[in-house]
Amino acid sequence: MAGEARNITLQIKNVRKTFTGRTGEVIALNGVDLDIYENEFICVVGPSGCGKSTLLNIIAGLTEPTSGEVYCHGKLITGTGTERGVVFQQYALFPWLTVKKNVRFALEMKGIKGQEADELAMKYLEKVDLAKFADHYPKELSGGMKQRVAIARAYAADPEVLLMDEPFGALDAQTRTQLQSELLETWEKDQKTCFFITHDVDEAIILATKVIIMSARPGRIKEIVDIDIPYPRNQETKMTPRFLELKNKIWGEVYKEYLEVRK
Ligand code: ADP
Ligand code: MG
Repeated sequence: MAGEARNITLQIKNVRKTFTGRTGEVIALNGVDLDIYENEFICVVGPSGCGKSTLLNIIAGLTEPTSGEVYCHGKLITGTGTERGVVFQQYALFPWLTVKKNVRFALEMKGIKGQEADELAMKYLEKVDLAKFADHYPKELSGGMKQRVAIARAYAADPEVLLMDEPFGALDAQTRTQLQSELLETWEKDQKTCFFITHDVDEAIILATKVIIMSARPGRIKEIVDIDIPYPRNQETKMTPRFLELKNKIWGEVYKEYLEVRK
């Protein structure tokens, strides 16, 4: 937790990414530098198209940077790794597996089998309130429920680093609040390091130890705001003067970037 001497989990060093499209080159990331410490909760905000997902995919090892490097515990990232779990904005489930088997899959990847895997899969489904749907297939669930299965699967994989790309974006307010609390509990208890993208400034402040504000394309880090509100945080935190002060500040900066995009 904040205050203790901690190790660096992720080092992002001068990362640039250019895409070549039909209309020429798009600079998605233009020199991003960031150190992320063990058990930090980083929330990334910024206008649409500023390179947030690109940065997450590079950390996940799914996209190669055009130049620059990312290190996890000092080791150069060259591909995906089980220490880094990803939850995408759009649920990515196996349609031919039941809900329980989707979650079990993550456990089997870790070598957990048989009854132990079944029990653990159910435990993680309970966390997201879906135990009753264990034997259903993804196509029988709503979008929000599918997303909760994807989250249960990511928790079951128990990675050291959780990379989440607007994971709660499509959920109703109540479910989102519940999953935020669940995520904060998991983060505090299991000492995970989180890198979480959101367009919801309230969500960013409730969750994060640090909010990273990205500038309009080409994406760079514009500002890093320390969220000095003690945990545990809850919905009442949103009414405190410090929360409102931070919200004003961050929202103002994000809005300026949004206007840049519209120019
Ligand atoms: P964000 O997640 O912040 O909305 P992205 O990282 O998805 O932004 O995209 C950043 C920029 O890179 C956008 O202009 C987007 O169109 C472009 N981009 C992203 N992925 C690709 C791709 N695979 N091919 C071409 N352009 C891409
Ligand atoms: Mg995105």
